[in-house]
Amino acid sequence: MTPDMLTMAIRTEPDVFTLRRIGREVAAGIGLDYQDQVRLATALSEVGREVLAQAGGGTVVFAFDGTLNVTVRAEYRLRPGTHGFAAAARLVDEVRYADQSVTLVKGVPPARLTQDRLETLRTHLAGLAAVSPLDELRTQNQELLTALEDVQSQRDELEETNRGVLALYTQLSEELEHTNQGVVALYAELEDKTVQLREASEAKTRFLASVSHELRAPASSILGLARMILELGDPLDDTRRHQIELIRSSGRDLLNLVNELLDLAKAESGRLEPTLSEVELRPVVERLAAQLRPMARDGVALVADLPGELDPLLTDDVMLTQVLRNLLTNGLKFTEHGQVLIRVTDDADTVLVEVSDTGIGIPADQLDQIFEEFYQVRGPIQTRVTGTGLGLPYARSLVGILGGDLTVRSEVGEGTTFELRLPRLDRITLPRVLIADDDPGFRATLRDFLRGVADQVEQVGDGRAALAAIRRERPDLLLLDLRMPDLDGGQVLAELRSDPELRDLPVIVVTSAEAGPLAGSVAVLEKSRLSRGGLLRVIRGVGTGG
Ligand code: ADP
Repeated sequence: MTPDMLTMAIRTEPDVFTLRRIGREVAAGIGLDYQDQVRLATALSEVGREVLAQAGGGTVVFAFDGTLNVTVRAEYRLRPGTHGFAAAARLVDEVRYADQSVTLVKGVPPARLTQDRLETLRTHLAGLAAVSPLDELRTQNQELLTALEDVQSQRDELEETNRGVLALYTQLSEELEHTNQGVVALYAELEDKTVQLREASEAKTRFLASVSHELRAPASSILGLARMILELGDPLDDTRRHQIELIRSSGRDLLNLVNELLDLAKAESGRLEPTLSEVELRPVVERLAAQLRPMARDGVALVADLPGELDPLLTDDVMLTQVLRNLLTNGLKFTEHGQVLIRVTDDADTVLVEVSDTGIGIPADQLDQIFEEFYQVRGPIQTRVTGTGLGLPYARSLVGILGGDLTVRSEVGEGTTFELRLPRLDRITLPRVLIADDDPGFRATLRDFLRGVADQVEQVGDGRAALAAIRRERPDLLLLDLRMPDLDGGQVLAELRSDPELRDLPVIVVTSAEAGPLAGSVAVLEKSRLSRGGLLRVIRGVGTGG
C-alpha cells in the first residue's frame, strides 16, 4: 500500500473549496480524464459540505490501494443517505460508510499511474496554497461552461446520430417495401403457374375425352367389319382367316384402350359423381372372385377373406367394383405361382381392402410411376400379358372420388400388396354445425345432407348473424355461402382468420359463385354439383368429426 498521499482538515466553508481543488488536482495527477476530474472534485465538495454540516468538520486522507481512496473522518457519527452523499455516490465508483467516516473509491487507469508521477503529485500537492473561494468559484464556473459545451456537443452528436438512424430506417423501410413487392410478385407468378397447370391438366383431359370419342366409332366399325368378313362373307382360306382374326383382335384391343381412356378422362374431369348406397361387400367380392377365377394360371388360387360380420358400406358399388376388378386382374396377370388374396378388414371408421399376390413384384423405384397414365413395368412376363397402363391411374381417380386412398407396397420376386382404404362416410359425428346461407331452400338441403351426421344444426341467413352465432357457441364446422347480404362469405372468412380463437375453425365454402381455392377455407364445393356423398367426403377429408 502506498503511504497516504495527502491529509487535510475541513473546519470551514473555504476548506471545502480547497478540498474540491485538491480533488481535481489529484484526479488530474493520477491520469483521470477531464470529466472524471470534475466528477471527483464535485463528489468531494459534496461530501466535505455534508461532513461540515453534520459533524462540524473532519479530516480528509487521500490514499492509494490500486484505486484512489479518499476517506473523510468526522468527529461525530455520520448519517448516510442524505442529499450530498447520494450525489457523491453517483459521481464515483463506490462509497463506503463506517461509523464516523466515509470513503470515496475511484478506479484509476493503471497504465498511467507510475511511481514517478505519484511522487511529482505528492510534491505538487504539498506546495499547494490554500485556495481562495473566489478562485475556486471561477474554476467552478469554468467547469460549468465546459460541461455546457460538452452537453451542446453531445446534443449535436445525438442529433447527427438521430439523422443517421432515420436514414437507416428509411433505407430499411424501402428495402422491406421492395422485398414485399418481390414476394407479392412471386405469389402472383405462383398463382399464374397454378392456373396454367390446372388449364394444362384440363386440356389433357379434354384431349383424352375427345380423341377417345373420335376413335371409338372407327374402332367399332373395324371390329364389325372383321366379324362380317369372318362370319358372313365367302369362305376364307386359313391364311386369310388368320389375318382377319388378327385384325379383329387388334380392333378389340384398340376399342378397350379407347374405352379405358374415356373412363379415365371422365374420372379426372371431376364430372364423375358417385352414386352412394349401402353396399354389402361380401356379395360384391364373391361375385368378382367367381368372374375372375378363370383368368388364374394353373397353380394360382384366388382367395377371398372377409370377416364374418361386416356392416354395409356407404359407397358407389359400380366404382368400387371397377377398382377391385382392376387390382385383382393385375394380381392374376402378374402371378405365376401361389395365390392372389383379397382380404377385407373392418375398422371403426374405415374399411381396408387388401389385394395381395405372390407374383413378380414391382421394383421400388417404379412404385410411384405405375399410377401414371400408360406406365408399364418392362420385363419378360410383362410383355406376355396384355394391358394399357391405364388401369391403376383410373383406379386411383375412382378411389379419390370415393373419398379413400390407394397405396401399394411390393418386393420384387415376392409379391405385391395394394391397400385400398375407404372411409365409412356415415360414421362421422359432428356435435354442432352452423349453416350460413341466405337461401332457405338450400339451407334445408344441407340440413338434410347432415342428417345422422350432425347432432345439432344451426342456420343463419347472413354473415353478421353467422359471426354472432359462432361467437355465442363455437360450432365444429361452418358451411358458408359466399354471396350473402350484409357481410358476405369472404368477409366472414377474413374475420374468422384474423381472430386467434377462431382461426382454426373448419370452414367449407358451399357456393354458386365462381370461386377458386379460398384462403382460410378447407374446401370449396359448388352448389349445383353438391351431393350428400360429396359433402360427407369433404367433411371426412378435413378431419372433422370422429
Ligand atoms: P396394365 O395392367 O393395363 O398394364 P395398370 O395401370 O393396371 O396397367 O398397371 C400398370 C403397371 O403396373 C403394369 O403394367 C405392371 O407393370 C404393374 N403392376 C400392376 N399391378 C401389378 C402386380 N400386382 N404385380 C406386378 N406388377 C404390377
